[in-house]
Amino acid sequence: MSRQRPTWDAYFLQIAATVSGRSTCLRRAVGAVLVRDRRILATGYNGSPEGLPHCTDVGCLIVDGHCVRTLHAEQNALLQAAAHGVSTEGATIYVTSEPCLQCTKMLLNARVRRIVYLDPYDDALARALRQQAGIACERGETPVGFRFEREVDVRVGADEGDPSSQA
Ligand SMILES: [Zn+2]
Ligand SMILES: [Zn+2]
Repeated sequence: MSRQRPTWDAYFLQIAATVSGRSTCLRRAVGAVLVRDRRILATGYNGSPEGLPHCTDVGCLIVDGHCVRTLHAEQNALLQAAAHGVSTEGATIYVTSEPCLQCTKMLLNARVRRIVYLDPYDDALARALRQQAGIACERGETPVGFRFEREVDVRVGADEGDPSSQA
């Protein structure tokens, strides 16, 4: 008797999807998992720097159509590894959204060698840069039942463009 086991990619993408549930940004929930040799090095989701108010408490801080209150999931995963002294050399990152330009540059210099994402994010510059740098980047299969958008979106827009409303 054999039962269906997920592939390693599907397994870590499922974990990244679970991690995204901890996101504190109202706009989008993103989760990331850094892996090497089938071992999880660090995880991250998009949220405010430690000690600062969360989008879920005070609303998103929107500049040019993006929420700038939060660190991205990939950044938080890299920073968690840094805080705990874990090398990311040669790692793979599993992330629920295709990395943006800033995250792509950070992943390159953290020597992450492979990116597996779920939801495409159309950033031509980020894609060109990854190709030029020779980093493997591929789209994985979305875990059953995973939703990219948050279900509760009540406060988006409430505090847009008004940084003075921060607690
Ligand atoms: Zn936000
Ligand atoms: Zn990013």
